[in-house]
Amino acid sequence: MHPLAYERLKKVLKDKKLVGRDETCDYYPCHFRGQDCTWCFCPFYPCEDEQTGGEWVLKKDGGRIWSCSYCFWIHKSEVAKELWRAFRRFGIARVEDIEERKEDLKKIFSLLKAKYPPSTGK
Ligand code: SF4
Repeated sequence: MHPLAYERLKKVLKDKKLVGRDETCDYYPCHFRGQDCTWCFCPFYPCEDEQTGGEWVLKKDGGRIWSCSYCFWIHKSEVAKELWRAFRRFGIARVEDIEERKEDLKKIFSLLKAKYPPSTGK
């Protein structure tokens, strides 16, 4: 996990609350006005699921990287809230749990998608 993602997710899990819209952020709104910023660094990264709006993009060196620029899904407040609830149900309370419990993360991702099917719109 990228160090910035690690620190951000660590703080979110420690604070135990949704961030909501963070209008103090220089990049707000990076996806859409009113977005929930809790999962700014997404615990599912890289989900590799284009139904979310995410996509593989080419890098200058010819490699590819997963881009979340067009994923609005995780920033919808109902999805952000449900992810919190799922983390509580599964006992995911530390950033290390996100790193170590990949199978549970996959299950949570599927449950979340089934309850709130992503669309590429806002
Ligand atoms: S595309 Fe969306 S769900 Fe997938 S890793 Fe990126 S932010 Fe998370």
